[in-house]
Amino acid sequence: MFNATLTQLVQASRALCYLCCLLSVHAQAQNTNVNLNFCVDPDWMPFEGVIEGNHTGIASDYLALFQSLTPYQYNMIPTASWSQTIEKLKSGECDLSLMLNSSVERETYLSFTIPYFFGPNVIVSKSDLPFMQDITSVGDMTIGVVSGYRLVEEIPVYYPGVNITTVASEREGLEAVENGDIDVYIGSLYSINLRLEELGLTSLKINGWVSIQDKLRIGIVKKHEAIVPVLNQAIDDISSSQHNDILNKWSNVQIVKERDFTLFYYLSALTSFLLLVFLWRHMVSVRVVSALSGKNAELEKMKEELLIANERLEHLSFHDHLTQLYNRHYFMSTLKDHFNQLSRQDSVSAMLMIDIDYFKQINDKYGHVAGDKVLVEFSNILTGILRSGDVAARWGGEEFMILLPKATKEQSMFLAARLMKAVRKHEFESQLSLTISVGVVQYRKGESIASWIERADQALYQAKHDGRNCVKAID
Ligand code: GH3
Ligand code: MG
Ligand code: MG
Repeated sequence: MFNATLTQLVQASRALCYLCCLLSVHAQAQNTNVNLNFCVDPDWMPFEGVIEGNHTGIASDYLALFQSLTPYQYNMIPTASWSQTIEKLKSGECDLSLMLNSSVERETYLSFTIPYFFGPNVIVSKSDLPFMQDITSVGDMTIGVVSGYRLVEEIPVYYPGVNITTVASEREGLEAVENGDIDVYIGSLYSINLRLEELGLTSLKINGWVSIQDKLRIGIVKKHEAIVPVLNQAIDDISSSQHNDILNKWSNVQIVKERDFTLFYYLSALTSFLLLVFLWRHMVSVRVVSALSGKNAELEKMKEELLIANERLEHLSFHDHLTQLYNRHYFMSTLKDHFNQLSRQDSVSAMLMIDIDYFKQINDKYGHVAGDKVLVEFSNILTGILRSGDVAARWGGEEFMILLPKATKEQSMFLAARLMKAVRKHEFESQLSLTISVGVVQYRKGESIASWIERADQALYQAKHDGRNCVKAID
């Protein structure tokens, strides 16, 4: 019974304490006489700074809004640096700071409002370094971050192993990059952009993005955490146009470096160039192959034409152009070859010399063209009765020679008679009648070619002398 009463009393006293606490917090939040001492970063423009003792920058404009939207008095406590501001927040000399990121470490001594200003963090390096996608691209290069910035706390958490060096201020960090003391500096885009212009650090460039974004809010010491909801309400009450006005007034982002596409362009250009060279070479080789095959076909054709031309030339050089019989030159050449064989062998051979009788009269009577046709027709008759191995040639004009290898005088005369008969029987154009005279000689062993031909001529002469249209043989 006693225990039950005691428990109830304890619970009642706890509830009372909680109520008192709530009332106290509420009273504090509603207290219009609360004076809040704020500390700033004196050198973090355009976010905030102190110029001739006056607070300026984005934070000062927001402060003016907070002053109008909350019932509190705000007094600036000057500090020499952000590090000193942090110290004063920790010691309680300052009650709040207007624009800072929350972090695990800061939450041990500060309470935070909702964020009201967002901004990217960027990497600054010398202009000749390639673009960096994020801190991972920095590799083992030295990264400068302002001492006390939550980046000092968070970068090693998200990117363990990176090489961080703290600097006293953004200015010092950027100058350290310029001097080559550190490789890159990481900080807020807005302040860095302004600072690069201000310091004229033309050898540096904003050369990469950092995925850790600034979410700036009011950080207030724990003893005043009761007024955080009031401040949050004030933040909610700030209109979009008010946010924009402040941003437009202070953001001076003119030198936002885009991703460095130089290497990409070079590689693209090189790739395109190599592709073009390859295509050009391919096209040239295709053209060359096609041209070569064209030329080869042309050469093949020319070769064929040349062979035909040679054959034709050979034919022309050995044949009579009108009758197509062998010509005198070929006959003589063949006769020499045959004569050489005859000299070595014990063989017989004969020769006919033929002359068309009164051929001049045919020309005179029927014309030269008709005479030509007669010569052609006679040649055909001649070719028709020859044996294989016999050689007939046009000796000149209307005279013909026939070499009859292995033929005796008698066999030759028999052939001559057959020829005369065939000529007599043949119906020439214009129904003209034609006769021939023939001289026959068998090769006389030991005689010369000239002698053999001479004797053929004599035999023919005798045939003419004997009245033509006959065959004469001499021994
Ligand atoms: P013969 O009986 O004595 O041999 O009398 P012929 O008229 O035949 O002999 P001639 O030597 O007096 O005349 C030969 C003629 O053959 C002279 C020439 O006009 C003719 N002649 C020579 N070559 C050709 C030719 O290629 N075509 C034509 N149409 N006539 C030719
Ligand atoms: Mg003649
Ligand atoms: Mg004649």
